[in-house]
Amino acid sequence: MEGASNQERVSTQAIPTAAAPALFSGAGRLTDSHGRAITDLRVSVTDRCNYRCVYCRTGTDGAQYSELPLADYLRIIRVFVSLGIEKVRLTGGEPLLRRDLTSLIREVAQLRTSYAADSSPFDGAGGDSRHSARGGSSNLDIAVTTNGHLLAAQAQSLRDAGLSRVTVSMDAVDPEVFARITRVPGSYDRVLAGVRAAQAAGLGPVKVNCVLLRGFNDDQIVAFVHFARTEGVILRFIEFMPLEEDRIWSPDTVIGYDELKARLNAVRPLVPLPGNAPGETAQRFTFDDGIGEIGIIAPVSRAFCGACSRVRLTSDGKIRTCLFSQTDHDLYSVLHRGGSDDDLAAYIRNVIAQKEARHHIGEPGFLKPSRSMVHIGG
Ligand code: SAM
Repeated sequence: MEGASNQERVSTQAIPTAAAPALFSGAGRLTDSHGRAITDLRVSVTDRCNYRCVYCRTGTDGAQYSELPLADYLRIIRVFVSLGIEKVRLTGGEPLLRRDLTSLIREVAQLRTSYAADSSPFDGAGGDSRHSARGGSSNLDIAVTTNGHLLAAQAQSLRDAGLSRVTVSMDAVDPEVFARITRVPGSYDRVLAGVRAAQAAGLGPVKVNCVLLRGFNDDQIVAFVHFARTEGVILRFIEFMPLEEDRIWSPDTVIGYDELKARLNAVRPLVPLPGNAPGETAQRFTFDDGIGEIGIIAPVSRAFCGACSRVRLTSDGKIRTCLFSQTDHDLYSVLHRGGSDDDLAAYIRNVIAQKEARHHIGEPGFLKPSRSMVHIGG
């Protein structure tokens, strides 16, 4: 499929309604060979993006990998949810570029109600009564990660379709710096309008993710703190990882956890907040006056692989068990060959068992992963 034309890649096939999950015999939650429960699925619905952020993309146009019909993502998500997935995050590329994303969200949200229609407890070791054998989850969390450019127009319909929350990526709060990073004029105002529309639509508190690079946008830290406190968004600073299309990453570009914490403390004294959930990647803080929430996500300087609960599906239907995997696992080919839900579930279990123990960023012999972030799904 790689190298397929745009026309081939983008399917307009409608999503069948009635997402009633088929029964299948897979039992037990997804657990890898290191004992980690896998509960968090990220699905890239396209690797196209309308921004060309300088630290992420080379600036060349276009996607490299194909897109599946949304109905195929739905089927795959349904099988994953039946295996104990509790959070589904739709991402990309830029997910809001996919027409009918709202329909996909509406159908995924049906997996919550399919639980209500079938109250059989999820079966198996470490089973969870919130999951049904028929593939539903009573409290399925559905999120989208977006650059926010198209969000203002879509926020309300996304919310109405059943979206739980939205994360918006912003790497500056200065409009000129922002446009230099995204390489799209006027992008800051568009994204700010998107953030505000999402808050107004009931998708708040919106999370804002900022990837910090030394000497590039770390002069934005103070302004970001004020932005978060005045806009009422939850701010997450993320360390830059070697996942770019170009080769610009080096250890020096990373603003590590201790340095960032000290710099935030200098803006206003930080007060630690307790974690929300076991697999949470962010160390959370508020300030001494209780206003605002800031998180530091430090996969490089404080790797959290031991608590990783994630698995990713690329836009072309490959499973990636780690951002830094050297291999893709071709789930789509199982589906394409006419595999049943049982077959998909068995394939997924087998792949999850092979999940890497950890990444090796910064170690001698580290190999860049076989795909960059935009082609995996962040
Ligand atoms: N287009 C959407 C967006 O902008 O949020 C979703 C895809 S984007 C690849 C997802 C996230 O990955 C963004 O927050 C982006 O900043 C982050 N990202 C991209 N390259 C990264 C890198 N090398 N290290 C850390 N985060 C990165």
